[in-house]
Amino acid sequence: MIARTNHMRDTKKLVGSLPAIRYTKPKYLYLAMANARCPKAELYIKEGDHVNSCQVIGMRHGPFFDQPIHATCSGTYIGLEKHYHRNGKLTDFIKIENDFKDTLDSSLRIRTPEEIEALTKDEMTKIIEDCASVGLGGSSFPTHVKFKTDKPIKVILINGIECEPFITADHRLMLEFPYRIMEGIQYIMKAFNCHQAKICIKSKYRDIKEVYTQVLKEYAGSGIELCCVGNYFPQGWEVEMIKSATGIRLKPGELPSNRGVMNFNVSTVVGIYKAIRYNMPVIKRNVTVTGDGINFPKNFRVRVGTSIRDLLPLCGGYKDPDKEKVFILGGPMMGASVPSDDCIITKTVTSIIVLNKTNYKEEPCIRCGSCVLSCPVHLEPVQIMNAVKTLDKERIKLLNPLRCIECGLCAYTCTSKIQVTDYVRKAKIIAKL
Ligand code: SF4
Ligand code: SF4
Repeated sequence: MIARTNHMRDTKKLVGSLPAIRYTKPKYLYLAMANARCPKAELYIKEGDHVNSCQVIGMRHGPFFDQPIHATCSGTYIGLEKHYHRNGKLTDFIKIENDFKDTLDSSLRIRTPEEIEALTKDEMTKIIEDCASVGLGGSSFPTHVKFKTDKPIKVILINGIECEPFITADHRLMLEFPYRIMEGIQYIMKAFNCHQAKICIKSKYRDIKEVYTQVLKEYAGSGIELCCVGNYFPQGWEVEMIKSATGIRLKPGELPSNRGVMNFNVSTVVGIYKAIRYNMPVIKRNVTVTGDGINFPKNFRVRVGTSIRDLLPLCGGYKDPDKEKVFILGGPMMGASVPSDDCIITKTVTSIIVLNKTNYKEEPCIRCGSCVLSCPVHLEPVQIMNAVKTLDKERIKLLNPLRCIECGLCAYTCTSKIQVTDYVRKAKIIAKL
């Protein structure tokens, strides 16, 4: 579906073949006070207080749920500081000075296999909620809410597809932590009393296929299998993955659980494993730093709260420093741009893409229909764009922009280099008014 450039393909392959560099000892870590799902927050600590790693230091409040804020290192609370969040907005971050002792909070414990076996689904859900587990593929959807479904689940899908160009953070996670992933999948299967799970990857990921073919031999009879799906974008979108892995076609807006399917990103599975096994929240994650604006693209394993400015020198700094840069958090198709490199890796930041700015000149629409043909949810982006330009609210609503998953394909394929996706985003806002 998407014609990627050789540069994207080569970079993705090269970076994905190298081990993730452990960068877990930054001097300062920064934790977002609030986020889109929980826009209010309170702090339980005051300036100068010592905190332990994994300690609950505050609470975010949202309309549907609250979310504990965990320290991701031990050290001293310095105060609030503004940095860019992945949503592109300047946001208050809790600044912790690392004491490099990594003193763990007393709430952490190791559960034995027998203790885990004895856990009920409600108990597992509570552990995951207390550990503030969310979708780490970028969705940030609270995991405990998924666990609360009372629908019968016939198959669990694990999303290791990572179909966006450039990003290989999950790729490295799958290669480097296969046993954490396998254990996490078993915990999820136990919670849902489900006897089948499929680890979904692109069929071209030969290295992952080799590792899991071997590892799965140790889990014979577990009901877990590898499922190789298509090599196109947006194969990782849950609707597309479910269709490829199970043959089930979800209706627009339909929940997978209605059809007996539950899906989790592979990083989320590792988060669930840590929560159930150790009561440990997500304090580390894999992140890809890449793009033609830096010298040496790399994968890192970092503490949540690491500043991107700490990682750039480890990538050899900027390539062509005189050129203006564009920063994208998340993939180039679905990520969000931020105005500077002063941004922080939150739990759901999968990648940072640094690009040398190229000024494309938009041409008039030639009505080629590429945007319509490429849209995976069968919208008419060009018509939506025209309706936005004329501020025709009724027509905008009729064109259903709220079904857009913001995959970016309409802009990517536009012959006239028009930022069609931006118009569809505007239409979504107008349709909600
Ligand atoms: S961004 Fe939205 S409108 Fe454009 S192709 Fe993707 S789903 Fe369709
Ligand atoms: S792809 Fe671009 S040029 Fe072609 S119809 Fe859509 S908006 Fe117009």
